[in-house]
Amino acid sequence: MLDFTLSPEQLALRDKAREFTRKEILPVAWYYDELDETPMPVLRKAFDAGLMNGDIPKPYGGRGCGMVEGTIVVEEIAAGCAGLATSIFDNSLGMAPIMLSKKEHLKERYLREIAQEFKLICFGTSEPTMGSDVAGMRCIAQKDGDDYILNGTKYWITNGGIADYMSVFATIDPKLSHQGICAFVVEMDRKGVSRGKHIPKLGQRCSNTTGVHFKDVRVPGENVLAEPGEGFLLAMKTFDRTRPPIGSFGVGAARSAMEFAVDYTKRRRTFGSPLANYQAIQFKLADMYMKVETARLLTWKAAYEVDKGVSSNVSSSIAKLYATEAAFEVVSDALQIFAGYGYTKMYPIEKLFRDIRLLRIYEGTSEIQHLILAGQLFSSYRPVMPPLNEVPVMAWEGNNGDFSEAVGSRVAWRCPICGYIHLGDEPPEECPYCFVRGTAFKRVAPGAEGIA
Ligand SMILES: Cc1cc2nc3c(=O)[nH]c(=O)nc-3n(C[C@H](O)[C@H](O)[C@H](O)COP(=O)(O)OP(=O)(O)OC[C@H]3O[C@@H](n4cnc5c(N)ncnc54)[C@H](O)[C@@H]3O)c2cc1C
Repeated sequence: MLDFTLSPEQLALRDKAREFTRKEILPVAWYYDELDETPMPVLRKAFDAGLMNGDIPKPYGGRGCGMVEGTIVVEEIAAGCAGLATSIFDNSLGMAPIMLSKKEHLKERYLREIAQEFKLICFGTSEPTMGSDVAGMRCIAQKDGDDYILNGTKYWITNGGIADYMSVFATIDPKLSHQGICAFVVEMDRKGVSRGKHIPKLGQRCSNTTGVHFKDVRVPGENVLAEPGEGFLLAMKTFDRTRPPIGSFGVGAARSAMEFAVDYTKRRRTFGSPLANYQAIQFKLADMYMKVETARLLTWKAAYEVDKGVSSNVSSSIAKLYATEAAFEVVSDALQIFAGYGYTKMYPIEKLFRDIRLLRIYEGTSEIQHLILAGQLFSSYRPVMPPLNEVPVMAWEGNNGDFSEAVGSRVAWRCPICGYIHLGDEPPEECPYCFVRGTAFKRVAPGAEGIA
C-alpha cells in the first residue's frame, strides 16, 4: 500500500537536478548573493535543462511531471541556493492559478508558450499593506465593458522585475472581502504596468523581489482567470499546490547544512579531539538528520495528495510548517557547530541561515499555517474517539482487578466537570469531589447509548 521507493525516472530526474546544482548553481550562488542580483543565465540554463516548468501538463506541450517529481527537483536546487530555487520555481507559483482555472484558452495560450519559450510568470496577491490577510487586498479591478481596469500596487513580487507575465489577484470592491476577489493574467509590458526597484533583502538575494504598480491597466475580459467571488478560493488552492515545494526548499537547505556540519565536525578539534567524537555534537547531528528525513516525508505526502487530486490543504500546511521550522532549527544548529566560523561569510552556513529565514514567511507565514491547522481541527476534522463525556474511564472506583465483577453490567455516571465516575443505577445526589448536582451527571458505558 505504501511505497517510498523512487522510480528509475524519478531517480534520473533527481540526479540531473543534483548535477545541475553542483555545476551551475554552487559555483555562482555566493557571487550573485553578494551582488544582490538574479543570475538570468542560470535561470535560462535551468529552463534548457528541463528543470523549470516541469508541471505543465503534456496536452499543453509540457512534461506533465507530478508534484512528487517537483519536490524532488526543488530539494536538489534549494540545497545549492534557496534564493535561486525561489526564482526558478516561481514560474510554478505563477502558473498554478492558470492550471487550476477553468479557462482552457488561457492554458492553451500561456502554458504552451511558457513550455516552449524561456518566459517568466510571477504571482501577486500581496500588497504593501496586506500579506497574510489575502481577503483584505485593495488593488482594484473595475469592470469596463468586457474588460477590467486595474489600479493598485502588488508588493514583494518574486521575479516582479524580470517576469513576462503575472497572475494578479484584485478586488472589485475591498468592502466585499473574499467575495470581491478576482484574478487575471497580465502581460508585464501592458500599458500602465510599472515595476518597482529591486527590494534589498536579508537573504535569498539571488531572487528578484519588487513591487508592481498598476495604473489604469486595461485587461481584456479573455484574461480573466477567476470571476469576482472566485479569486480567493483560487488563491487558496494555489497555495495548497505550492506549499509542499516550499517545504522542499527547507529540506534541501537543511540537508546541506547537516552535511556541511558533519564534515566540519571531522575537521575541527577542541580539547585534543575532533568535534565528531563528542556525543553532545553527535546527538545534535542525529536530531538534524531526523528533522531532514521527517520533513522530506511530509513534503512527499503532501505532494502525493496533490497528484492524487485529494484535498491536500492540511498536508500542505503541515509540510510547509514543519519543514520550514525544522530547516530553521537545523541550520541554526549547524551554525552553532561551526560557531565563530559559521557566523562568517567564509563558510556556507551564514548564507543558508539568511536564506532559509524567509521560508517561514512567504506563501503563508508559520502563524498562518497554525491558524489553518487549528481551524481544521475545530471544523472538518473527524475524531476517532468518542466525545470526552462518553469515554469509559473507570480506573479506580471498585477496581479489584476483576472487571466484570467491579463494573460488569452496572451503570456508570460521569461528572461533567471533574470527570468522577459513579457506579450505580442512579447518579449520586452530588459529586463527592466537586459538588456538582447529580442531575448534571451523564450516563456512560456500560449501558450508555452508542457504546458497546
Ligand atoms: C522575499 C519575499 C518574496 C515574496 N514573494 C511573493 C510573491 O511572489 N507574491 C506574493 O503575492 N507575495 C509574496 N511575498 C509576500 C509574502 O507572502 C508575505 O510577506 C506574507 O504572506 C506575510 O505577509 P506580511 O509580510 O504582510 O505580514 P503580515 O500579514 O502583516 O503579518 C505580520 C505578522 O503577523 C502575523 N499574523 C498576521 N495575522 C495573524 C493572525 N490572524 N494571527 C496570528 N498572527 C498573525 C504574521 O504571521 C506575521 O508574523 C513575498 C515576501 C517576501 C519577503
